[in-house]
Amino acid sequence: MTWHPWRRTFLATGAAVVGFDPSTRTWVTDAAQSQGMVDLPLLKGKVMTDPASRGQAADDFGHLIHRTPRAVLEPGDVTDIMLMMRYCRTHGLQVAARGQGHATFGQGQVEGGLIVDMTPLNAVEVREDTAVVEAGALWSSLAQATLAHGLTPPVFTDYLELSVGGTLSVGGLGGQTHHHGSQADNVVELEVVTGDAALRRCSAQLRRDLFHAVLAGRGQCGIITRVTMRLRPAPATVRHYLLSYPSVAALTADQRRVVHDGRFAYVEGELGLPTGSAGWSHQLEAVAFFDGSTPPDDAKLLDGLGDQPGDRQIQDMSYFDFLNRLAAGVADLKSAGEWYRPHPWWNMFLPASRTDAFVEAVIEDLTETEVGASGVVLLYPFPRARLRLPLLRVPDEETVFLFTLLRTASHGAGSPEDMVEANRSLYLRARAAGGYQYPVGSIPTTPEEWRTHYGPAWAAFEAAHERYDPDGILTPGQGVFPPGP
Ligand SMILES: Cc1cc2nc3c(=O)[nH]c(=O)nc-3n(C[C@H](O)[C@H](O)[C@H](O)COP(=O)(O)OP(=O)(O)OC[C@H]3O[C@@H](n4cnc5c(N)ncnc54)[C@H](O)[C@@H]3O)c2cc1C
Repeated sequence: MTWHPWRRTFLATGAAVVGFDPSTRTWVTDAAQSQGMVDLPLLKGKVMTDPASRGQAADDFGHLIHRTPRAVLEPGDVTDIMLMMRYCRTHGLQVAARGQGHATFGQGQVEGGLIVDMTPLNAVEVREDTAVVEAGALWSSLAQATLAHGLTPPVFTDYLELSVGGTLSVGGLGGQTHHHGSQADNVVELEVVTGDAALRRCSAQLRRDLFHAVLAGRGQCGIITRVTMRLRPAPATVRHYLLSYPSVAALTADQRRVVHDGRFAYVEGELGLPTGSAGWSHQLEAVAFFDGSTPPDDAKLLDGLGDQPGDRQIQDMSYFDFLNRLAAGVADLKSAGEWYRPHPWWNMFLPASRTDAFVEAVIEDLTETEVGASGVVLLYPFPRARLRLPLLRVPDEETVFLFTLLRTASHGAGSPEDMVEANRSLYLRARAAGGYQYPVGSIPTTPEEWRTHYGPAWAAFEAAHERYDPDGILTPGQGVFPPGP
């Protein structure tokens, strides 16, 4: 038998794989060599088939869908991804990248296929005004690395422990989006392993079709391996404002006002479930950046706003503590077990002209049973013009709102199945009101509905998919394109 240095790694793990047997369609471990085995390519990393690795890859933050892959690749470098993509293509196996597995409805899972665990590819290099980041890096690591140079990515999601590749595959939105677009809008260049096993660079100038099919492209054309991202000067400190409103309409009026005049650096909003005799709460969350010595002018920032002045909460904190503000709450949810419960999330964009009526009607019937003890309802707007990517579909109005029901199937709440069913009917209502899905939630959606969703962008998306993933092996869990032959 020929000795390969890489095999030693496999033998040491005990569960690693050396090939795929097309006759039985099973992966073959070193200990179970068999007739018809096709050797795996020479890899720097590992292919794992042990139950723990496959079980983890068959789950996500939603805990609603479980599709078990045959194997999980821990790539040693990008070449491993290319080699395994070619291997899977040859053997008709489907492939999906996994960042942090924070999708909620099996979007990154592959029954009987290969999961590429992106976590080993996590290098971050900060240059003059850009960062070059491997796609498995976490936003928290990227923030720490750039802040050491006084720089920051322009837009963050609320939670930092998501992978760069995972959020760029959906868009990546946050309170800074009203100034700077989605995270994907701030990408300068990508390196991608496409479904035909080639490694390609792309940007707005180079292979624009691929660039626009990968950003917010839900892994349908390639696996993002490296990203060049724009950076901005980072503030040292922020002043954080929580403003209370008596109604949805009063909240959204001020949100629209401040996102259009741009007085704050960050704007979001949250609706709180009724407690005791109090009804729903409506809060605007905003942030102003400052250098630590010259505080923001509160009177100017709050001028003309219609919130309840007696309920204002204002505090200063470091920029990183602000970015990382969910960390303590997440630790609490973990210790209470809520973090590990099913999460049938619902996330949609609404046209501003329909938002107040739609949201008021929805929350009228909403109780803790429907959203769970730790459920969160978010509502905040962006000027539509800030979102420039063809695949991040939003309503065609000057202002659009992101409305989310981040449900948790807590003990005592409704069942996960009921929540998913409720998501589906609410999706249909929102569609009828001109809304579009932000595809990170748990809404059963047919390929035909996705085709309609993408509307004018569909033809280019489909053409890119046929060109770059000709066998249709990539990311079937998104349910966008029917599986290949
Ligand atoms: C607690 C929490 C808070 C969140 N907050 C926000 C928020 O504020 N704003 C917001 O916009 N979103 C938010 N999200 C949603 C989140 O951005 C998406 O679910 C994101 O896709 C998760 O990233 P991930 O690394 O876990 O990706 P995964 O769940 O691992 O993957 C998601 C999808 O992307 C694909 N994918 C992953 N990596 C790559 C890659 N390198 N190349 C190609 N495809 C890839 C996967 O195959 C899968 O289809 C939040 C989610 C959670 C759980």
